[in-house]
Amino acid sequence: MTLGITLESVTLGYARDPVLAAIDLTVRPGEVLVVVGSSGSGKSTLLRALAGLLRPYRGRIVAGGEEVAATSRDRSMVFQDDALLPWRTVRSNVELPLRIRRLARRERRAAVQEWIARVGLAGHEDRLPRELSGGMRQRVQLARALAGAPRAVLMDEPFGALDAQTRAEMQRLLLDVLRDTRATVVFVTHDVDEALLLADRVVVLGSGGVRSVIEVPGPRDPDADRAALRDQIIKEL
Ligand code: ADP
Ligand code: MG
Repeated sequence: MTLGITLESVTLGYARDPVLAAIDLTVRPGEVLVVVGSSGSGKSTLLRALAGLLRPYRGRIVAGGEEVAATSRDRSMVFQDDALLPWRTVRSNVELPLRIRRLARRERRAAVQEWIARVGLAGHEDRLPRELSGGMRQRVQLARALAGAPRAVLMDEPFGALDAQTRAEMQRLLLDVLRDTRATVVFVTHDVDEALLLADRVVVLGSGGVRSVIEVPGPRDPDADRAALRDQIIKEL
């Protein structure tokens, strides 16, 4: 069920000049791949292409053996902010991908309630987005992204607008919920510490391409020298 995604000589851009040229990259099934890069390096562009929102000029993107040609409920997205439907309640925002999946009503309600509880929003089901804090809105987005049981979740600086403490809470929540799903995650950030906390591997973008791909050893790995990794990534940014 987990999704592997392969980019084969993919060139991406909007007008004539490519933003990213001839990229080869594999997202391994079930991993958390974190993409870092300075502003304008093409992180969102890459994520849009993985989502099927932007067609490559050249090359192809293959997800689970099929070429990515459009958006799919297999690949859900989480954005930095303002991605919830403002006139819908928390419950109804989370329910949306399940309606699209045409699940039976009872099954749908159960999944929605479970995910609302998992992200710590039980009791807030009937609120509208504008009645929530930034952190709570990102919890709703997370629940909405995962409730439809996607095979991959694509996250574009989802915690970038949050204060430091709320961001740390959300990072813990994300690690926690990911343990129970087998979804593949591609997570964009410009925060190197966030990258090292969440990633199995870090991709550094720069100069129109992939500068490097860095394996992040597990937290209990005695060889884990995160300070050295951190220095390496910062040097490449
Ligand atoms: P990042 O997310 O790393 O900050 P983006 O992927 O948003 O970078 O942008 C990469 C480059 O593509 C930038 O030069 C940006 O100006 C350009 N770009 C982004 N979106 C568009 C668009 N919709 N139309 C034209 N150019 C765009
Ligand atoms: Mg961006």
